[in-house]
Amino acid sequence: MTLHAVPPEGYRILREGDLRDYLAGIPAAATRLGGPPEGWSISEVGDGNLNLVFIVKGASGGLAVKQALPYVRLVGESWPLPLSRSHYEYLALTNQAKLAADLVPAVLHHDERLALVAMELLEPHIIMRKGLVAGTTYPAFVDHITTFIARMLFFSSDLALPAAQKKEAIAAFAGNHALCKITEDLIFTDPYRVAEQNRWTVPWLDATAAKFRDDLELHVAISRLKLKFLSSAEALLHGDLHTGSIMVTARETRVIDPEFAFYGPMGFDIGAIIANLLMAYLASSGHEREPGARRVFEAWVLETVEQVWGEFARKFLELWRGEAAGDAYPLSLFSGEAGAARLEAERQAYMARLFQDTVGFTAAKIIRRILGLAHNIDFELIEDPKMRATCEARSLRLARALMVDTASFTTIGAVTNAARTARDWQPEF
Ligand code: ADP
Ligand code: MG
Repeated sequence: MTLHAVPPEGYRILREGDLRDYLAGIPAAATRLGGPPEGWSISEVGDGNLNLVFIVKGASGGLAVKQALPYVRLVGESWPLPLSRSHYEYLALTNQAKLAADLVPAVLHHDERLALVAMELLEPHIIMRKGLVAGTTYPAFVDHITTFIARMLFFSSDLALPAAQKKEAIAAFAGNHALCKITEDLIFTDPYRVAEQNRWTVPWLDATAAKFRDDLELHVAISRLKLKFLSSAEALLHGDLHTGSIMVTARETRVIDPEFAFYGPMGFDIGAIIANLLMAYLASSGHEREPGARRVFEAWVLETVEQVWGEFARKFLELWRGEAAGDAYPLSLFSGEAGAARLEAERQAYMARLFQDTVGFTAAKIIRRILGLAHNIDFELIEDPKMRATCEARSLRLARALMVDTASFTTIGAVTNAARTARDWQPEF
């Protein structure tokens, strides 16, 4: 018996012609596109792993239309995946739009039965990961992304929401467990064991992959992180916040693709950003034309890593001091000057714990991209496989230290220093 998902009544996979007819019947879409439907250009551009994405352009505007398939696009029908992920993506996008409208694509239309979301076409934005591979710096990125994560995480947490509302919100996303399971397997389990879908740059990383499968210290550390991912419903996460889920221009930043959204540990989203910046940094030497040619870019990446944590922490604390309306830390327990001072010290302690989580999840997100199923172009586009393996081995060395010796990284400066040291390390192949 095969495990083919049975799509619900009314669902069909749209082709270009169907989509044209469909959009013509949706006033919000037809108005945005403008002109006669026959004049609309439609192309499927999905470069992601899971869904179809159509870019539609008309006389007066454009749309991006994303449709979930009842299976994982990258793998095919043998790996079914619920269409409901489109519902959660829509829910997350509309929630994000309330808190940071300038930082996400506006949703124009959602069709629950077709598992389809029509949204603002981001143009001329490009996927940030592509820009980073090309060595482009994004000066406005830190401010934008830290506003995004500080607001999303704070306003969905017990610091901001009364308990009943928080629990309702957890329930609203709890059904997205199939997407969580992908993360639980592909990030927190498979890279550390023999799994059919694992791959790495052979033969250079064979020995490291084998060591990671035998490394009990690492297995304890990743299992603790997995437990936190499974059980800590701290805030509404994006759930897949890597540089391939961010579209940018020199001045603008938009976060896309929140189909993995659920209530989880805050450090997972922050760690996703930091991990992908660190990989951009350690992959960079693989893209240089001559040694040192990308030093300015690399310095910018590390400065960005430092500022992502620093600015996130500053903005999050500012929200906590000014907008706390949740049931956590009742002010009646911290009255007077002494109470206020003690609460402020506790806020700092909270951030220190969150930083530890972030360091751990950063490591997990690096390791999965090098030893697991889903790889990234930061490394994949390094043509010389030995050079690629060198960049990847440096990243694994950094990630192992971050995961096993997490407690020794108490500042973001300690993390960027370790990244600098890793860049200079020469593996013995
Ligand atoms: P998946 O969930 O399958 O990974 P994504 O949401 O990441 O799909 O979208 C896949 C690709 O489609 C993105 O990498 C981007 O190139 C393009 N894309 C998605 N949304 C938009 C948008 N609103 N505007 C322009 N391009 C988009
Ligand atoms: Mg994606």
